[in-house]
Amino acid sequence: MQRPEVLIVGGGNAGISLAAKLLRDGVPDVTVLAPQPVHRYKPLLNYVGGGEATMADLERLMSDVVPDGCTWIRDAVDSVDPAASTVHTRRGRTLPYTTLVLCPGLDEDWAATPGLQEAYADGWAASTYVPGSTPRVWPLLTSLRAGSVVFTVPPEPASCGPTALKPLFMACDHWRRTGVLSALDVTVVLPDATAVGVPRADEVLERAFADYGVRVLREARVERVDADLHALTVTSPSGRQVLEDVAVAHAVPRYRAPRWIADSGLAVDDDPGLVDVDPGTLRHRRYPAIWGLGDAAAVATRPSGGALRKQVAVLSANLAAARDGGDLQRYDGYTVVPITVTRRKLMLAEFDRDGRLTPSVPLVDPIRPRRATWWADRYGLPQVYWRRILRGRV
Ligand SMILES: Cc1cc2nc3c(=O)[nH]c(=O)nc-3n(C[C@H](O)[C@H](O)[C@H](O)COP(=O)(O)OP(=O)(O)OC[C@H]3O[C@@H](n4cnc5c(N)ncnc54)[C@H](O)[C@@H]3O)c2cc1C
Repeated sequence: MQRPEVLIVGGGNAGISLAAKLLRDGVPDVTVLAPQPVHRYKPLLNYVGGGEATMADLERLMSDVVPDGCTWIRDAVDSVDPAASTVHTRRGRTLPYTTLVLCPGLDEDWAATPGLQEAYADGWAASTYVPGSTPRVWPLLTSLRAGSVVFTVPPEPASCGPTALKPLFMACDHWRRTGVLSALDVTVVLPDATAVGVPRADEVLERAFADYGVRVLREARVERVDADLHALTVTSPSGRQVLEDVAVAHAVPRYRAPRWIADSGLAVDDDPGLVDVDPGTLRHRRYPAIWGLGDAAAVATRPSGGALRKQVAVLSANLAAARDGGDLQRYDGYTVVPITVTRRKLMLAEFDRDGRLTPSVPLVDPIRPRRATWWADRYGLPQVYWRRILRGRV
C-alpha cells in the first residue's frame, strides 16, 4: 500500500469528523482504518433507554458516513511500530504512515466487574452503554411495579459517564407519573463524591436525587455481581455493602483503552492505557508523527462528543502547522455533560479542564433544566451531527 498522508485509526465520532475536516481543509490523502460496519450516534442511546428514540434513529452504515474522497480500510489495528512508522492489522496487513492519528475509543472491561456479564445474559441487567442491551432498558424499567432498582455511573475512563443518569431520571419521572415511584427503592452508585464535579451542575442533580427519593452511594464501585442472587456488592469509603434482591440493574461496565496501545508503547504509564498525548496539542509526547483524540486519548478532561468538536478543530490546525512549520494550537479541555432531570427537561453543563463554565450560547444559562435544551439535545444535535459534524463543517 502507498503511504497515506494521514492514517486515522477508528471510525467513530472522532475519526470520521476528523477525516471530513482534513479533506475539507485540502489534505489530499486521508485513510480511515475501522472494522465496524455500523456507525452510531451514541448520545441517542440514552434516549432509547428513556423510551424516546429507537436504535434506527442512531445507526447509519459506515459506508454512508465515510466522507467522499476518504479511503476506508475495513480492518482493525493489532499493533503499532512507531520506530518503523507502520501499523499492523488483525488481517495481517502492514500499513505505513506519515502521520498517524489514534482514536479507537474505549473497550468494555467486563473482567473488572466479575458476574456483570452473567447478569446481562440473565436479563435483569442492561444499560444504554452496551448497545446490544439498550433496547431492553426502557421495557425493563417500565415493567417494574415495586422492589429495588440500581443505577451506576461508570468511573473514568468512561464515555461521558454522568450521562448514565439520563435513564435514571427519565425512569423516575415516568414512575412518579404512573404512581409507582413510592413503591420502588432506587439507588445510584456514583464513582465520585458528586455526579459531575462542577458545583452548579451538582446542585441541580442533588436536588433531583432528593426530589425523587434516590439513595446515593458516593465514591463507590460495583465490585462484583452475583447474577443468580440478583445481588451487587458495592465498595465505598464507608465499607462494603451488598445490595440484595435487585429487580433491575442499569449497571454500566468499566472501561479501559484498547490494550494494543500500551503493548505498542504508546500509553500513559498507568492502568487504563490511554494514548500518551500532550493534552493541549494532542500530539504524542514521544512520537511526533503520532496524535490522539477522543475517548482513548489522555486529554485530562471528561471525554464527550461535544469535546470532540474542539479537539478536531485543534488537531486539524496542528497537523497543518506541523507540516508547514507554524505554531501549534492548544485544546483547553472543553467538554459537555447533558443530563435529563425529567423525561423532557435537560440540564447542560459545559466546562473546561479547570471546571470553569464555558457556555456556547451567550446569555442563556444551560444548567437550568429546560424543555428547549431537551429538544435541542434529542432532535437538534443529531441533525447537526449527521449533516455538519461528520461532514467536517463544524
Ligand atoms: C451511552 C452514551 C451516551 C453518550 N452521551 C453523550 C452526550 O449526550 N453528549 C456527548 O457529547 N457525548 C456523549 N457520549 C460520548 C460520545 O459518544 C463519545 O465521547 C464519542 O463517541 C467518542 O468518540 P471516539 O471516536 O473517540 O470513540 P468511538 O465513538 O467509541 O469510536 C471508536 C471507533 O474506533 C473503532 N476501533 C476500535 N478498536 C479499533 C482498532 N483496533 N482498529 C481500528 N478501529 C478500532 C471502533 O470500532 C469505533 O468505531 C456518550 C457516550 C455513550 C456511550
